[in-house]
Amino acid sequence: MATPTAPDRAQLRDRLKAAGLRVTAPRLAVLTLLNELPHATADQVATGVRELLGSVSTQAVYDVLNVFTSAKLVRRIEPAGHPARFETRIGDNHHHLVCRQCGRTEDVDCAVGPAPCLTPSESAGFVVDEAEVVFWGICPDCTNITP
Ligand SMILES: [Zn+2]
Ligand SMILES: [Zn+2]
Ligand SMILES: [Zn+2]
Repeated sequence: MATPTAPDRAQLRDRLKAAGLRVTAPRLAVLTLLNELPHATADQVATGVRELLGSVSTQAVYDVLNVFTSAKLVRRIEPAGHPARFETRIGDNHHHLVCRQCGRTEDVDCAVGPAPCLTPSESAGFVVDEAEVVFWGICPDCTNITP
C-alpha cells in the first residue's frame, strides 16, 4: 500500500479553502491530527488537539468533525458497537478491518483500479457512490493475550 507523503501546513490550509471552509486553528489542528492518526475516534482527536492548542472544548472538536464530514473532507466510519472513527483518506472506497475486541481499525484497499464493490450485481436503478464493507475479526494483539 503506498503511503502518501504527509501534507504540510500550507497544503492543509489549501484543503480547507478548497472545501469552502474558513481556516481556523482548531480546524487545522484536527486535520493535522487526522493525517497523523488515521481512524482516530472523536475523543482521541480532542485529546490530540488539546495537546496542540491548549484548551479546546470537546464540543468544539465534535463540531469541527461534523463540518469536515459534511464537507467530505474526512470520512466517518462507524463500526457497529464501536465509537465512530475519522480519517482523511477519502474518495477511494477503501474498506476496513476492525478488531471485535479493541476496535483497532486498518485500511483494506478495495482493489487496484476502479472500485469493484461500487458495481453491485443488482443496483435497482440506484446511482451507487459508496460500498461499506467491514471485515470483522480479532487483531494480532488481542489474539496473543493469554487468558
Ligand atoms: Zn484487538
Ligand atoms: Zn480507512
Ligand atoms: Zn471493495
